[in-house]
Amino acid sequence: KAARVASSAPTIFAEMSALAVRTGSINLGQGFPDTDGPDFMLAEARQAIADGLNQYPPGRGIEPLRRAVADHARRHYGLDYDPETEVLITTGATEALAAAILAFVDPGDEVIALEPFYDSYAAAIELAGGVRVGVGVFGPDFRLDTERLRAAVGPRTKALLINSPHNPTGVVLTRAELELITRLAIEHDLIVITDEVYEHLIFDDAEHLPLATWPGMRERTVRISSSGKTFSATGWKIGWAMAPAELITEVTAVKQFLTYVSGAPFQPAIARALNEGDAWVAGLRKELQGKRDRLAEGLRAIGLDPVIPRGTYFMTTDVRPLGYDDGIAFCRDLPGRCGVVAIPHQVFYDDVEAGRPYVRWAFCKSDAVIDEAVARLRQRS
Ligand code: PMP
Ligand code: GLN
Repeated sequence: KAARVASSAPTIFAEMSALAVRTGSINLGQGFPDTDGPDFMLAEARQAIADGLNQYPPGRGIEPLRRAVADHARRHYGLDYDPETEVLITTGATEALAAAILAFVDPGDEVIALEPFYDSYAAAIELAGGVRVGVGVFGPDFRLDTERLRAAVGPRTKALLINSPHNPTGVVLTRAELELITRLAIEHDLIVITDEVYEHLIFDDAEHLPLATWPGMRERTVRISSSGKTFSATGWKIGWAMAPAELITEVTAVKQFLTYVSGAPFQPAIARALNEGDAWVAGLRKELQGKRDRLAEGLRAIGLDPVIPRGTYFMTTDVRPLGYDDGIAFCRDLPGRCGVVAIPHQVFYDDVEAGRPYVRWAFCKSDAVIDEAVARLRQRS
């Protein structure tokens, strides 16, 4: 196979979800909720299919959805994007990320990303021939290593890929950390790609502050998000990118040859969800915070000490108290021992040692499922 795909294997999510099905385990691995998004959104998609919106939509996405995306950015963050020229609808955030990376990264260019990184970053950077440079948000406290970030930026750096709220750690970058990122980006004239798919899944007093809101940042930032997490519709794969027209034109040029267009009947449904779903999302956030605390309590009861996330629907534990020093071994044994599936952190690192003892647990599941998972862990671990 080609060198650029030499290291690509089936994703950990596919492997672990298949293992969950095969062993009848509770799947706290792959991040998807076990309840669906708002009824009015689901009804809108059904209606769109009935109304015949089943052929290729416009490549940039239907106008009402582009407008809804722009209105959402203005309403929540005071950011102004022109829906005609500065918004692109994509097949999930995954496609937006790949298209942005392919659009701006030449072979040999360095892309700095927060390590552990979401698995598609490594693959997309590799497809582009770029070189990824990890900057640690490492355990046990999972704070951004700001010195390492500063030191990582060099003459070959082309782009910063910033994910906050951060998968898998649940870190929400602070204002001070974001400010450092903006200073580096401006000083070194970098492109910044922001993965904001968990923008609304934040807890306690956490705030999501898009990097594009800082002076000097909008013009260099491609903001990426998705309906999958916000509206519990991960299978619909409707995402988007927002950036100044010069940048979005390049991302669009790549997108057209990756998928051409994205899911027609889902687009009006997501437009409605963005326009009318703020209260629903507020409810989801509150519910998830309760689930976070529920799972944390359960994990503590089996002797683990979870790192409480301020965002996302993932929680991390160090599994050494349970007699394992390797998260992969722990996660391979867990379905057979306890009938539960989780995700080892190591797959998100280049620096494998840094991630060795950590395991990620998803809590976007009904309370009964979380309780059953905890009961199984208590009985059998
Ligand atoms: N980025 C991060 C950090 C994610 O966790 C995910 C998983 N949803 C994605 C991107 C991909 O999002 P989508 O399903 O919309 O492609
Ligand atoms: N984003 C989800 C996760 O991190 C699912 C990703 C996937 O299946 N590719 O678990």
